[in-house]
Amino acid sequence: MVELADLKTVGQPNWCPGCGNFPIWHSLKKAIVELNLKTHNVAIFSGIGCSSKMPHWVNTYGFHSIHGRPLPIATGARLANNSLTVVAVGGDGDGYGIGVGHFVHAMRRNLNIAYIVTNNQVYGLTTGQTSPTSDKGYATKSTPTGVIEMPINPIALAIASGATYISRGFSKEMKHLTKLIVDGVRHNGFALVDVLQPCVTFNRKNTYKWFSERVYKLEETNHDTTNKQAAFLKSLEWNDHIPIGLFYKEIRPTYEDELQQIAETPLARQKIEDINIGTLMTEFE
Ligand code: SF4
Repeated sequence: MVELADLKTVGQPNWCPGCGNFPIWHSLKKAIVELNLKTHNVAIFSGIGCSSKMPHWVNTYGFHSIHGRPLPIATGARLANNSLTVVAVGGDGDGYGIGVGHFVHAMRRNLNIAYIVTNNQVYGLTTGQTSPTSDKGYATKSTPTGVIEMPINPIALAIASGATYISRGFSKEMKHLTKLIVDGVRHNGFALVDVLQPCVTFNRKNTYKWFSERVYKLEETNHDTTNKQAAFLKSLEWNDHIPIGLFYKEIRPTYEDELQQIAETPLARQKIEDINIGTLMTEFE
């Protein structure tokens, strides 16, 4: 049995007190415990940002990569060893800005990766610039008179790009968020868990209070999670009412399922001596 104590690392998070990353970190660890995953069989990949430090503080395999690149590296890990549970984590600037191309392609491939995006609508690590999900009109040091672009809608983008498990959590709703992560990791395919993550230091608009007054749970409505059009309509709700929970889920073969080369044995466990590379080498002589 894996216990929370098994996931403890030497270091402790250095996030600002009250940061919305703390409950996400706890939820991820609780999800690993609930799924009873062996720590040596989990790998967590991140990019750059406050939340991207997370792999340092969960005692599994981890890779703190470069800005916007957790998904390509997680993809490589899944293809090298598709018996691993692969989780990617990072912020909105990392995933929906710099890494948005990787985000779209990972979803259309339906790789079996759970991607947790800590969406605080601001660049926190670099001290509070506008991010791709900052609300229109929101003023930051990089847009002192207010953002003029429309924000990225990650849920709508995920629906359009072919993700097969699309959800949104809220840092303050830890039990709910843990379930979304558990179900996302269990899902055989690309699972997005976008998390409303208040940045208490730099985002003075989208606060715990602001979200608490607006969020409601999709599972407490008659929302049909198999209906793509209904999910898209729900994804457009913002400002007055903000849905959290599972928007959409479908079963579709994963990218890994389509690869005959790893159908029986993960690449990492295939015996090199069983592979005849003579023909290939001859081609390059
Ligand atoms: Fe959290 Fe914001 Fe502080 Fe970063 S800057 S640790 S996101 S509160």
